[in-house]
Amino acid sequence: MEAVAFGRWPEHVDEGLVTHVAACAVCGDLVEVARALHDERDAACREAPVPAAGMVWWRATIRARAEAARTATQPITVLQGIAAACAVGLACGLAGAAWRSIDWTAWMDGLGALVLRLEGPRVDVAAVSTLATSHALPVLLGLAACLVLAPLVLYITLADD
Ligand SMILES: [Zn+2]
Repeated sequence: MEAVAFGRWPEHVDEGLVTHVAACAVCGDLVEVARALHDERDAACREAPVPAAGMVWWRATIRARAEAARTATQPITVLQGIAAACAVGLACGLAGAAWRSIDWTAWMDGLGALVLRLEGPRVDVAAVSTLATSHALPVLLGLAACLVLAPLVLYITLADD
């Protein structure tokens, strides 16, 4: 089979192999099938339709232009992702402002009293609740939104690659 595949059959092989193939039915069949496949492959290689050089050049030009356009639009996509993240952050800030307008002080006082009961009398309940309602909640919302949305934005931005 190797001799047929490399075009050495039957001129450039051992006499013993040729004699054995002539005598052995299995090896005779193998050589017949291998020669048919080898000849078919040669004919296919000779008759393969090669496109014209102008067509190949035209296709290469189109592909190069498409790749250049994709490379050029990549920073724009990144900027769009950053703009989307900024919009989400702004929305979260507005939501935090709206949240702040609601009177959560009473609720936070209750939580602060619970914390005070657990940790001892050193914590200033009013200061903690005021700070939490005025600053911590919007910041926490923004951080949570960024943590959730940043991988999504990155995935969407880099999905073209
Ligand atoms: Zn044999």
